[in-house]
Amino acid sequence: MNSDVSGDPLARSFAQLARKADQSFRSLMVPKQPLEKPPLAIHQLGDRELRHAARRISKVDESIRDLARDMLRCMYTARGIGLAAPQVGVQKQLLVIDLDFEEAANPPIVLINPEIAAAGASLNTYEEGCLSIPGVYLDVVRPSTVEVSFRDEYGRPRRIKADGLLARCIQHELDHLQGVLFVDRVTDELSLNEGLQQQGFERQHVQSLR
Ligand SMILES: [Zn+2]
Repeated sequence: MNSDVSGDPLARSFAQLARKADQSFRSLMVPKQPLEKPPLAIHQLGDRELRHAARRISKVDESIRDLARDMLRCMYTARGIGLAAPQVGVQKQLLVIDLDFEEAANPPIVLINPEIAAAGASLNTYEEGCLSIPGVYLDVVRPSTVEVSFRDEYGRPRRIKADGLLARCIQHELDHLQGVLFVDRVTDELSLNEGLQQQGFERQHVQSLR
C-alpha cells in the first residue's frame, strides 16, 4: 500500500481490518463456545498418558491442524487457557494457548515443537491450575519471562518473548511435553496434599522434581 492511501484515516482502518481478517484466516479459529460433546477426552492425574515425553512433529500438515482445532474445541469446552497434546493422549509436541477465550475474534496461539530459547533470571510465584487436575490450584515458582521458539500451525518458524500470564502458561504447557505436571513443582507439601485430597486425587501420582 502506498503512503497516499495509508495517510487517509478511513483507508488505514480499512487496512487494519483487512489485516486482522487475514490474520484470522491464516490462523486456526474455532468457535469459542463450550460443546456438549468435545471431540477428545482430557486425561487426568494418574493416567499414564500424561507422563510420556512427546515426540517432535516432522511435518506440519492438515492432520496437525485438525488435531489443533480439536484441542481448541476441548480447551474452550473446559474453559481452559492452554492445552498440550499429551493431555488428550497424543504424544506430539503441540500446544494450544488462548488467554482470551471471552474474545471471539482473537486467534489462539498454536505452538509446534516449542523450545525455551531463554528464560529470565527473575522468578515469580503464581497460582496454577490444570485441565488434567481439575479443581486444584496451587502456587508454583517459575521464571517470570521466557523467550520461546516454535513452528506455528503453518509450519512457519516463530519466536516470541513472553511475560506475565503468557510466560506462565507457555512454561506450564511445555512441561506437559516432558511428562511433567505443575503439581510436581509445588513446594508447599501441606497445601499440595490438601488440594489433591479435596479433589479426590492421589498423592502417589505426583512425581516430585525436588
Ligand atoms: Zn496442565
